[in-house]
Amino acid sequence: MEHPENDEQYTGLTVNSGVAQPPIVNPYLAARRRRRPMPTASELVEGILRGDITMLSRAVTLVESTAPDHYALAQEVIEKCLPHSGNSRRIGITGVPGAGKSTSIDTFGMHVLKQGGKLAVLAIDPSSERTKGSILGDKTRMEKLAIQPGAFIRPSPSAGSLGGVARKTRETIVLCEAAGYDTIFVETVGVGQSETAVHSMVDFFLLLQIAGAGDELQGIKRGIMEMADGIVINKADGDNIGPAQLAQAQYRSALHLFPPTESGWSPEVLTYSGYYELGIAEVWDMIDRYFDFVKANGYFELKRSRQARWWMYETIDEQLRKHFYDNPEVQRLLAANEADVLANLRTSFAAATNVLDYYFTH
Ligand code: GDP
Repeated sequence: MEHPENDEQYTGLTVNSGVAQPPIVNPYLAARRRRRPMPTASELVEGILRGDITMLSRAVTLVESTAPDHYALAQEVIEKCLPHSGNSRRIGITGVPGAGKSTSIDTFGMHVLKQGGKLAVLAIDPSSERTKGSILGDKTRMEKLAIQPGAFIRPSPSAGSLGGVARKTRETIVLCEAAGYDTIFVETVGVGQSETAVHSMVDFFLLLQIAGAGDELQGIKRGIMEMADGIVINKADGDNIGPAQLAQAQYRSALHLFPPTESGWSPEVLTYSGYYELGIAEVWDMIDRYFDFVKANGYFELKRSRQARWWMYETIDEQLRKHFYDNPEVQRLLAANEADVLANLRTSFAAATNVLDYYFTH
């Protein structure tokens, strides 16, 4: 009251009662930035069955998430999609880096779309765990497909063990099939264990090779060749046609030494050029003939049901291992026992028993 400004006679500048300080962040923008609410399982399933790519992508993200509540929601969505799945051709594609996987998937994919199909390209990259990101299944590597509305391209899930990554890809197959994708490509690098995982989720396994590189150079193990339903020699163009045909003859004779396949199908060896789009129809014709063959003799169904059983046990193994290694006391005991083993104070077996005994009794 002593302030002259508060005197009624005062005619100079007065102090007004304050106005609230506006928030630093525009509330309208903040509201817009807030994350979209998570759809319910039924909303996701309805979206997927409608073929809504946004809903499919969100469901795949849930499948890939490591958050426990996401896991439960993802499982519910998968289970509801399961009756609508299974109606696709699942094709595994492998080959060393540089063999032309992305170029070929781009070309084969466009061939599928031209025939009126819908294609999903998924990937399993065992290295992505280390590199925290995967180039396999990357859109930028499939320039033509990436802009096609009928193609859904998804890079390899990157978190977790190979088994975990592979399970996520397998679950994504179910979602894609429910969304109406009738051809599924699963890409992987032909260097190791990931082939077994891919083999356990596809109907047809295509091995991409290039001429002029020895088997050692291509890192292709005999086991991978044995898994192949078709071997295709890429880059059969220009000066490379001769070497590609030579490689074709070599692979053909190598395959003769293998025991007959369980499916009764004789794996074929073809040459083609993914880049110049030569021989694509022939490769596709081989795949068509394979599906006709195994559907007629019942192997198609047999293989799928075996795969389902395999995944049941694989998932149990994975979950058991995770439950064990995630236990903090187990982690402490492991470190202590490992140190003892390294210092030659305890045998490996005794150390393992030590930790397992704790685990089984708590
Ligand atoms: P990826 O690592 O297996 O995915 O192989 P890419 O598809 O990236 O191909 C590796 C390199 O081979 C690229 O430079 C391609 O342009 C080239 N390439 C792929 N397919 C062919 C082909 O059919 N003919 C020729 N000449 N080059 C090809």
